[in-house]
Amino acid sequence: MAELPSVHKKLIPWFQKHKRSLPWRKTKDPYRIWLSEIMLQQTQVKTVIPYYQRWLKHFPNLTSLAQAQLPKVLKLWEGLGYYRRARHMHEAAKIILEQYGGKFPADPESLHKLPGIGRYTQGAILSIAFDIPVPLVDGNVARVLSRLFAIPEPIDSREGEKRLWELAKKLVPKKNPGDFNQALMELGATVCLPNDPWCDRCPVSNFCSAFRQGDQEDYPKKIKKNESKKVRAVCGLVHSDGKLLITQRPSQGLWAGLWEFPTFRLTEKADSESTLDKKLHAWGLRVCDLQKKGSLKRSYTIHREDLEIYFCKLVSDKKKGRAVKLPARQLLYVAPTQPWDLGGPVPVSHRWVRRNELGRFAFPSAYAKIIREYL
Ligand code: SF4
Repeated sequence: MAELPSVHKKLIPWFQKHKRSLPWRKTKDPYRIWLSEIMLQQTQVKTVIPYYQRWLKHFPNLTSLAQAQLPKVLKLWEGLGYYRRARHMHEAAKIILEQYGGKFPADPESLHKLPGIGRYTQGAILSIAFDIPVPLVDGNVARVLSRLFAIPEPIDSREGEKRLWELAKKLVPKKNPGDFNQALMELGATVCLPNDPWCDRCPVSNFCSAFRQGDQEDYPKKIKKNESKKVRAVCGLVHSDGKLLITQRPSQGLWAGLWEFPTFRLTEKADSESTLDKKLHAWGLRVCDLQKKGSLKRSYTIHREDLEIYFCKLVSDKKKGRAVKLPARQLLYVAPTQPWDLGGPVPVSHRWVRRNELGRFAFPSAYAKIIREYL
């Protein structure tokens, strides 16, 4: 077992000397620390940097975020994924402005009540911005601790998680808790890598149980995950009079409130072209000239989706002898809230927009890619 009091004495000086220069490391402003921690969840540092900088140009402080309109917030998040993070930040900013006069609360109970601020984010904000000795555990910290202490419990089990948080709590020092927490994360991100950790460069190798045993890569232990599920979908780029049809997803569920091109799940053997034709027809849209333009793969939750992309043209309704024109905000019936849910239709709004107007709407990253590559 590593000597608990000594780890920070090695780790903090190492961090202060070797830390990467990152924009959020130049500040103690809790708003900026919070923003960086939320953006970094499930997202790589190099992806986050331009988003972080652009966000701060538009919302330099908590008040500007709280007073912003949600579509603008989502637009600035476009491409980062996990859009619930942006919605929660927006809601939390409004609460902090209304209930705390715009001053970031500096205690775990108040932070815990804010949307999107879990135990990890609390630890990051309190220790980094306010120098309060509160622990944190993210994926990198879990890997480092599981190796340092050769933890036998899977880190994604309840027991493993409990053990990690207890250790992190015992390890965090009263002095420089923010640097200590960041040092653990930095060690995991740059030295104690998932495969092939650089133990010869590690400042705490003397304390590391897994290193002593020579089985570093056997840690962390994990519960075996279910295989991901393959699914198919078809997406129509329906155009009429130089405009494209876009639909808005419902306000709850996956990619809530974002925009997309009409998309339908396909059963395993369904023909994509005829399914698209039929589904659009069921909406009251008659299309012609269906042309397959390509396909792309995307992943969400446990699904790996193969998305086929078609161009098609809205045609005249023969009975009425004129083109189908939908009022700009008429309700349509579109894909279910969850793409894997083949249940009943859900009403959402739609628009007909020109190519150069698409930039005003926030799309999930797969559709942003379609816009870049096919339109
Ligand atoms: Fe990770 Fe190796 Fe350092 Fe142990 S000695 S914490 S396995 S880098």
